[in-house]
Amino acid sequence: MNFFSLNQNAPKVSFREAAIKGQAPDGGLYFPETIPTLSADFLNQLTDLEAEEIGYTVMHSYVGEDIGEADLRKIIQETISFPFPLIEINENIHALELFHGPTMAFKDVGARFMSRCLGHFREKNNPITVLVATSGDTGGAVANGFYEVDGIEVVILFPSKKVSPVQELQLTRLGKNIKAVEIEGNFDDCQRIVKTAFLDKELTQMKGLTSANSINVARWLPQQIYYFLAIKEWQKKYGKQLPAVVCVPSGNFGNICAGLLAKSSGLPIRHFLAACNKNAVVPEYLETGIYEPQKAIPTLSNAMDVGDPSNFVRIQELFKHNLDIIKAEMNSSSTDDLKTLRTIRDVWNQDHYMLDPHGAVAYHALSEYQKSHPEQKGFILETAAPIKFQETIYDATGVNLPLTGSLKALSAKEKHAVLLQADYAVFKKWLLS
Ligand SMILES: *Cc1c(COP(=O)(O)O)cnc(C)c1O
Repeated sequence: MNFFSLNQNAPKVSFREAAIKGQAPDGGLYFPETIPTLSADFLNQLTDLEAEEIGYTVMHSYVGEDIGEADLRKIIQETISFPFPLIEINENIHALELFHGPTMAFKDVGARFMSRCLGHFREKNNPITVLVATSGDTGGAVANGFYEVDGIEVVILFPSKKVSPVQELQLTRLGKNIKAVEIEGNFDDCQRIVKTAFLDKELTQMKGLTSANSINVARWLPQQIYYFLAIKEWQKKYGKQLPAVVCVPSGNFGNICAGLLAKSSGLPIRHFLAACNKNAVVPEYLETGIYEPQKAIPTLSNAMDVGDPSNFVRIQELFKHNLDIIKAEMNSSSTDDLKTLRTIRDVWNQDHYMLDPHGAVAYHALSEYQKSHPEQKGFILETAAPIKFQETIYDATGVNLPLTGSLKALSAKEKHAVLLQADYAVFKKWLLS
């Protein structure tokens, strides 16, 4: 399979090169040249197939011969080595829990797959440094994904005192090949330093700098796997006559775009809902036909505070830039913080299921949709564990969630982080020392 740049001004590349480069040299996102069609045999047998077999079949068509069968199977096995349960919240809505990985958010899947691909593609004696700025969740997933991967050093910049306590634990307690850099500034300062570093030819060559950005195909494509695993469970429960509506809490729109891609390859899904918080660029686009990027607005579901979703161009490409087709495939709506809190509270009181703020945005969107489509059952993607948002959960429900075993173990470990001024020269000197 070859990948082309959506800016149409760069050579086509194989999976290997797309994963190493991250972004095309013309600044575009890579997109598969054809959308694979999965065989009817495979799709009819989903309920009988093992998770790893499903993952391998889905990913092999994209990876091609760039990774041999045995190695790709091993990478898939390590990527999905934790459960993806589909839990019934009530009669109409299930939750696909994607937070049973090491950093308790769905980003573990993409980060684990990508790290192992880069480890596989790395040339012996050529060290790689993965450089990433994080406002919270991404850094933890990337750190964990690359932890103890041979020959790869990870440098994560995060704004001092501006990530949640749980997020800070996940960033700063690993040590070994993971270097956490606490910047005296905000997320924009971190991002600016990272961008400057990538433009610095001396540094990129000496350190073999690469990015673990979410637009990388090696992070984006494996997210399809859990949609297949969910439909397998759905069909076990409901058979094939009642396809699910799937609601995805969306920020950069990478996760939902993976689901739409899975459906284009044949996965039977009835309809998609993209649930947004107050950052409503896409819902407004679907309503007006005008795509107008905004400055991000801070909300309780902060991993979705995105004012110009980078993966939306992939959705447009998938549906040939045709607004009518996009609208036939997905709805999108926006929710505010007050409704998010009320949803967490109500679902806890009525169904005794604890949503995190991102899952709550999705739950609200799906239950609103079902008011006008009462015969359609579906599931939300529960993208993070509620414990990552202890304060919000307490405000919504009065419940004080205890730290779980793995977080307790992290908090007992020593903190590894260097504190640096928000200054590129200072950062570069530290990195080269
Ligand atoms: C990143 C993230 C999202 C948004 O996913 P996109 O692929 O950017 O749309 C939703 N929920 C959580 C918990 C996240 O970390």
